[in-house]
Amino acid sequence: MAAKKILNFGAGPAKLPQEVLQKVQGELIDYHGEGISILEMSHRSKTYAGINDGAQQKLRLLLNIPENFKILFLQGGGTGQFASVPLNLIGKTGKADYIVTGNWSRLAAKEAEQYGKVNYVLPETKTFIGPPPKDQWKFSPDASYVYICDNETVYGVEYPEVPDTNGVPLVADMSSNFLTRPIDFSKYGAIFAGAQKNVGPAGVTIVIIREDLLNNALPVCPTILNYTIMARDNSLHNTPPVFSIYVMDLVFNWIKSQGGLKEMNRRSQVKSGLIYDTMIATKGFYSCPVNKSSRSRINIPFRIVPADVAKQAELEEKFLAGAEALGMIQLKGHRSVGGIRASLYNAVGVEDVQALADYMTNFYETASK
Ligand code: PMP
Repeated sequence: MAAKKILNFGAGPAKLPQEVLQKVQGELIDYHGEGISILEMSHRSKTYAGINDGAQQKLRLLLNIPENFKILFLQGGGTGQFASVPLNLIGKTGKADYIVTGNWSRLAAKEAEQYGKVNYVLPETKTFIGPPPKDQWKFSPDASYVYICDNETVYGVEYPEVPDTNGVPLVADMSSNFLTRPIDFSKYGAIFAGAQKNVGPAGVTIVIIREDLLNNALPVCPTILNYTIMARDNSLHNTPPVFSIYVMDLVFNWIKSQGGLKEMNRRSQVKSGLIYDTMIATKGFYSCPVNKSSRSRINIPFRIVPADVAKQAELEEKFLAGAEALGMIQLKGHRSVGGIRASLYNAVGVEDVQALADYMTNFYETASK
């Protein structure tokens, strides 16, 4: 019996391209005729050196990363970076500006408070629906860096354009929209991303940092979080997450074969457009709280708003159960906000999202009868 087709809309770890998984399966036991698995290989071997350097080169080409930026493959996830960023970068003035647009940037700011003075650029809020107008943003005159989360995975808030920081280095958490659109590196000091959403398995965290920002870590910065040491040792200071980096390298090949970042961006517009358009066509039955200009192309949270609001929870449960029955999984909203969330990472195909949009329309029609 053929396996049921699963459409995975999970927020991460998330869907990987089928071709990549097949390739991994094919070469798992005997890597390129070496007689051992990549899982059993020394990180000091020539073979792994080739993977490490090759992955860096491919990423540099895909993103058009200038030569004065270092690429690091680290561990500790996005959460590790919440500490690494201030430990490596706040030392210049002891202060940093944080633009909090959701829970991930809020957590990063809280972590940074341990290492220096954090200025909150935006007025405090509990409802993350996109940043307020620019005249309400309050930058400090002497921040070492300005921090943003480019795409807030839980609230579905994404920057449509890079904020202007007036020359202060901009640091961006791109964990959930990394490699979904081109990046203009002239506007950033550093970016980072956990791999487990768009580019590979959990375990590797990518950091891309401008060279002139190195050599400034606080004395308390642990070696494992120290960008300068990791850059000096080409991400081989200690044992790296070899398997995750190997799979990520294959995902880079896949993205290139699909047409690169321009194509990933085009698909993300098409995919998110299908869901947002369905919300419009169903006349408010589905509602996304985020301001139009800040709506994410990648993570779309929404609620069902029936005429009788008392029925919301029941209908949302029914929606999720019906989706599961059709093989559409991991659509439940983050536990902190509830509702529904569709994550449309690179490996999620346009046809998968079309199936979800069709299901949303059918569910609406049945519920409105
Ligand atoms: N930043 C963002 C935008 C995220 O979505 C996440 C995790 N979902 C994190 C940081 C934290 O990443 P990790 O679980 O790898 O620590």
